[in-house]
Amino acid sequence: MSAPFLAEAEAMRDELVAIRRDLHMHPELGFQEVRTARIVAEKLGALGYEVQTGVGKTGVVGLLQGGQPGERTVLLRFDMDALPIQEESETPYRSQTPGVMHACGHDAHVAVGIGVATLLARHRERIPGIVKLMFQPAEEGLGGALAMIEDGVLDAPRPDVALGLHVSSNHDLGSAVVRSGAMMAASDGFRLVVHGHGGHGAHPDQTVDAVLVAAHIVVALQTIVARNVNPEETAVVTVGALHAGEAGNVIAQTAELRGTIRSFSPEVRELLHRRVREVAEGVATTLGARAEVALRIGVDATVNAERPTAVMHAAAAAVLGEDRINTSYRTTGGEDFSAVLARVPGNFFFLGARSDERTSFPHHNPRFDIDEACLPTGVAILCDAALRCLHGAHE
Ligand SMILES: [Zn+2]
Ligand SMILES: [Zn+2]
Repeated sequence: MSAPFLAEAEAMRDELVAIRRDLHMHPELGFQEVRTARIVAEKLGALGYEVQTGVGKTGVVGLLQGGQPGERTVLLRFDMDALPIQEESETPYRSQTPGVMHACGHDAHVAVGIGVATLLARHRERIPGIVKLMFQPAEEGLGGALAMIEDGVLDAPRPDVALGLHVSSNHDLGSAVVRSGAMMAASDGFRLVVHGHGGHGAHPDQTVDAVLVAAHIVVALQTIVARNVNPEETAVVTVGALHAGEAGNVIAQTAELRGTIRSFSPEVRELLHRRVREVAEGVATTLGARAEVALRIGVDATVNAERPTAVMHAAAAAVLGEDRINTSYRTTGGEDFSAVLARVPGNFFFLGARSDERTSFPHHNPRFDIDEACLPTGVAILCDAALRCLHGAHE
């Protein structure tokens, strides 16, 4: 049989959909996933997992000792948090919590995780080694993965390989992106304050205009990607916020810019950091002002290791078909599972969840939704990949 867990996962479809919709109706923000974590912990406990709660504040870890001898431990990770977005969809399972919404699909990840937990527990007698499930809080910018790592999720037993997934409205249902190397970008932020010299709008000669300096900095920052980064590489410098001034006849004393920087390699990342600082400070100095630059280091690039990626590819191809696996796509989006993959070799893949207009809205959009038919396929792929890894296929 080519996709060993698919029939059983498909038989669970109604249950997976019910779990996902219940979570979708009751979304919880990062580090506040109390109800979600309780549901996960109860399910894992009932399935015979050794359960640890409160790992990284609201994270849950489940351990299953297989019934066959084996030295390996495979980690499977599922994030649980929602976003501060008011849902605009009309579905019967829309969010019941004002201003909070599962707009990234992490509700689907938890449902897939519970499906994986169920099938692996059912097949415990033929599993060699240990299955470690990591139900993670606060993926959306709050550092949930690191919080769980600091609380020991990668210790005792230390995983040999780590696997994870993200549902994707950028890809069709029945397809997946499985690639080695950097698949998602490092994501850092910057805050930049221009200090000028305020004064009367009629007498610019007596001032240093922070608005004009800020405008020059915004333009000059775009030369970093255009003129400093190797054209073979990919990078982004975005100024997303610019605040200055209060009145039309007043020259502003200060201006504040905030932005995001994306890169796939440590070299480009370092270059972006250095040039953002140099360009901002240099332009400000040239125009008689002073720029204060603060970089905020965010998540690392999500880098998939070669052998675990080959395992995931085989598992995904067995479920979806070889011709439905995209091996080249990558995105400048960031993902904090990168913190795990920086410490344990593994693979993170995208599972296509788009089938019509309703399921084509971008992630983080107030109308985001998925085609739930992806849930059983996600379960089958991860169960198969986990078992292959426990047999050492990733080594
Ligand atoms: Zn997201
Ligand atoms: Zn996400």
